[in-house]
Amino acid sequence: MPELPEVEVTRMGIAPHIDGRIVSAIIMRRSGLRWPFPPDLAEILTGRTVRATGRRGKYLLIQFDHGTLIIHLGMSGHLRILPLATPAEKHDHFDLVTGDQVMRLTDPRRFGAVLWHPQADGPADAHVLLRGLGIEPLGAVSLAQTLFSQTRGRSAAIKQVLLAGDIVVGVGNIYASESLFRARIHPKTPAGRIALARYVTLASEIQSTLAAAIDQGGSTLRDFVGANGQSGYFQQSYFVYDRTGLPCRVCGQAVRQIKQGQRSTFYCVHCQT
Ligand SMILES: [Zn+2]
Repeated sequence: MPELPEVEVTRMGIAPHIDGRIVSAIIMRRSGLRWPFPPDLAEILTGRTVRATGRRGKYLLIQFDHGTLIIHLGMSGHLRILPLATPAEKHDHFDLVTGDQVMRLTDPRRFGAVLWHPQADGPADAHVLLRGLGIEPLGAVSLAQTLFSQTRGRSAAIKQVLLAGDIVVGVGNIYASESLFRARIHPKTPAGRIALARYVTLASEIQSTLAAAIDQGGSTLRDFVGANGQSGYFQQSYFVYDRTGLPCRVCGQAVRQIKQGQRSTFYCVHCQT
């Protein structure tokens, strides 16, 4: 599943190709994905100029003067920039055409989304899918303080609090396990019992883990262009994620796996307390 770094790399990959360009056509090859496509989207966007390509959590926000096109990649979606004449294949569901090129959404599992938020309804942050989101972890100077103050009195495990997305967005399953390992915090620790000093460490590790993933993904940016390019999803070298039974890279003890809220958590019982 695309996590925040993949979505940010997607944003970096498509922005130079669509920002400032005029939409010449919208092509929808089915009526929707997770939710219906806005049926009048071609009418809404044709002739309009893309002003900027932003991101909030895992939502891509393609901004126009009169509103924002919100795209979510779901479980399996990816975007590519292709020459206009490139034939569409089976899972190519949505095209945003700008002159001689097309931004194409491919999504085999169809959990993605393409939505329209008109400017008249306020900023895109007011959209029902966005307004409950926690703070952006990257570049947030207040991340540690926010984690600390918003978890007082909460008995939920820190791993699940990170995944919930209402305090901080974009810390998905991989990055929660990895940043908790790097901060040496046991994933089952009640969030309300973690002191500010430990949240300072955790916030720093969340930010550096995500930033490292984005840096690595950035080297794949050329893959966003061209008919054969795969999307910029990438495998990293993890400390604990998906390493059950393998030796911890720090202490050598076997990495353990547990279930928390139906999701697998990976950790080292020796390094994380
Ligand atoms: Zn260890």
